[in-house]
Amino acid sequence: MDNRDTLIEVRNLKKFFSIGDNTLKAVNDISFEIKRGETLGVVGESGCGKSTAGRTILRLYDATGGDVLFEGKSIMNLNHQEMKAMRRNMQMIFQDPYASLNPRMTVGDIIGEALDIHNLASGQKRKERIQELLSLVSLNPEHMNRFPHEFSGGQRQRIGIARALAVEPKFIVCDEPISALDVSVQAQVVNLLEQLQEKMGLTYMFIAHDLSMVKYISDRVAVMYLGKMVELAESDALYEKPLHPYTQALLSAIPIPDPEIERNRERIVLQGDVPSPMNPPSGCHFRTRCPKAMPECAASVPVWKEVEPGHFAACHLYN
Ligand code: SF4
Repeated sequence: MDNRDTLIEVRNLKKFFSIGDNTLKAVNDISFEIKRGETLGVVGESGCGKSTAGRTILRLYDATGGDVLFEGKSIMNLNHQEMKAMRRNMQMIFQDPYASLNPRMTVGDIIGEALDIHNLASGQKRKERIQELLSLVSLNPEHMNRFPHEFSGGQRQRIGIARALAVEPKFIVCDEPISALDVSVQAQVVNLLEQLQEKMGLTYMFIAHDLSMVKYISDRVAVMYLGKMVELAESDALYEKPLHPYTQALLSAIPIPDPEIERNRERIVLQGDVPSPMNPPSGCHFRTRCPKAMPECAASVPVWKEVEPGHFAACHLYN
């Protein structure tokens, strides 16, 4: 694919929070692009900045620095009215489907609210559109007058997806959309997202805390650690030949169904906890837990580099 197919371009994005006298660098200078129709998986442990990155890209948070381009146009300086129009293109699906749905609103009104904000339909047309959206996510259209608590967790996530789809977006940030669900329904929601992508030409940023589920839905995968992107590659390349020691450790923690392979393979156990993002280690932020750390890892920040075609990593092993 060439540049004309780029839907989202993120350039040197930063999001810092002031906490007392300290600065929390939640997202610290990340750059990448997402092609039209692509799913980019973004993975990392809790506190690595992946959700903050998703929210900052959608301008739910104001960026501290950098730029986000949608179809080649910066969205950072859009005024309120322009941003409202832009929100039709860019939507979000939240992690906790129950917390993100107003318990006092019917499902019809939850989905219809998005139609109302953008004046997309009223009266009978509004009702028909809501029912169409419920069918699209495999829910019974007759249930539009029910309340969120009358649905299961998986069904509530389907309502969240229908709400995001109401405005016919091009890009959706899926923020850990399956983490709160039972394992048995996780695959159903992932399958639904894939079917909708194919049908509607959607582009996803799919955020997850481990690498096992993103493998199946992502074309490419990015790995984040303490506000930085440490590796980005096509899914197959990342899973078959991870370059960054952190990615290697995350992959080694995923159980393999074959007991023979599972018994004999090497497991990389990371030492210590994730350091405070308020006070990250000097040089490479991963060095305090990295089994391959060298003296230069403390001295300088590794450069983000295309180590192999389309395969990027930030590590002194490749600088
Ligand atoms: Fe490990 Fe050094 Fe690479 Fe960081 S730069 S991941 S500490 S080898």
